[in-house]
Amino acid sequence: MDQTTRTANDFIIQIAGGKAQAERIMAEVRENIRKLDSCKLHDFSIDLTPGRPISMGMKWKCSKCGGEVDCTKKKWYELGLTHMATEGGV
Ligand SMILES: [Zn+2]
Repeated sequence: MDQTTRTANDFIIQIAGGKAQAERIMAEVRENIRKLDSCKLHDFSIDLTPGRPISMGMKWKCSKCGGEVDCTKKKWYELGLTHMATEGGV
């Protein structure tokens, strides 16, 4: 591990509130990625932040795999599906 990596790890541990907390968060991130990677066709229809007045900070959950994404990822994923449907995947 070089100095840059150690510094980045120290920073992550600091903002997470400790090493155990950072490890827990990283385990959750890895599990979310595993869920998202295993899904054939997402359906981000579950609003995890209902009532939020602006899109910033909104989170959505796939009803099929349980993976979670922010509003921007949901928007681009769904736009990609629309483009595939309208342009025949070209
Ligand atoms: Zn999914």
